[in-house]
Amino acid sequence: MGKSTIVCLGELLIDFVPEVNGEALADVAKFGRAAGGAPANVAAAVAKLGGDARFIGKIGRDPFGDYLVRTLQDVGVQTAVHQTDEAKTGLAFVSLRADGERDFLFFRDPAADMLLRADEVESQWLEDAAVYHFGSVSLIAEPCRTATLDAARRAREYGALVSYDPNVRLALWPSADAARTEILAQLGLADVVKVSEEEIEFLLGVDATTGAQQLLQSGPKVIVITLGAQGCRVVTARQDVVIPGVPVAAVDTTGAGDSFVGGMLFQLASLDATPATIVDALAEPGAAERVFAFANRVGAITTTRRGAIPALPTMNEINEGMQP
Ligand code: ADP
Repeated sequence: MGKSTIVCLGELLIDFVPEVNGEALADVAKFGRAAGGAPANVAAAVAKLGGDARFIGKIGRDPFGDYLVRTLQDVGVQTAVHQTDEAKTGLAFVSLRADGERDFLFFRDPAADMLLRADEVESQWLEDAAVYHFGSVSLIAEPCRTATLDAARRAREYGALVSYDPNVRLALWPSADAARTEILAQLGLADVVKVSEEEIEFLLGVDATTGAQQLLQSGPKVIVITLGAQGCRVVTARQDVVIPGVPVAAVDTTGAGDSFVGGMLFQLASLDATPATIVDALAEPGAAERVFAFANRVGAITTTRRGAIPALPTMNEINEGMQP
């Protein structure tokens, strides 16, 4: 039995989400407080499934930061969240557009999470990791950028699979070009990359089929394209398959992508695969279905409930089928 720890590193913030009272979107009754940050959501998803999830990040010395750490620990994530006096915990204010989509306004000038330094990242955790997971928000500014990338390199040296979810949030970047350039530049550090069709179009300006092949050429071994209710598409040098989604009555897709990644990483960690063996391990009969049908199920259940972390399913809920 190999390692099974999943280490996530990156942004950690609170979303203030309008709660609509009645039909009219303008009829906001109050703002709810939701712990978030994509890598933190992924760690929470893994922990709720019963996996060994760890999160590395940084908060301000304020009640928002305390709330974030408590939320992660309450679902079973081990945290190495450093506190700084130099900045406040990151906040996001969500507004609803007329079509129901969300816009985000960020308090980050900079937020504490971007001040994480490479020397604050626990070496032992990188050594323990079966999987190291990061996103692109923590690449937007130093010193967190170096901390994120340095940890990826070190985890890889220790034999971990490296997972990268570019999770493009253009509002946070100085420009679309800056986002595209940096996101593409870091692909080579990753073994597994999760993207949406829209992100492929944004990053490469091509369709998903062409884009997946281009992404494989830049280093990653597994490209996972999320397809919303349709499930996901998995592309490696040995296969290109669509794993159908699980039909549910979705009420809120917040956190679906992160919970999908959590489910995927939980299963990948249990494959006992290394960067050198992951493509063959996923080509074993039934293996890709096992990993990605599970991830689809985790994502699907998350959409049946409101919020991100509160909506994440436990393993019992997965096993019971779709009963929340
Ligand atoms: P993102 O764009 O953030 O990657 P998606 O909206 O594609 O996220 O959702 C991620 C995953 O969650 C999908 O691949 C699918 O497995 C599941 N999912 C999302 N929306 C639905 C839905 N409406 N019904 C069933 N499953 C869904």
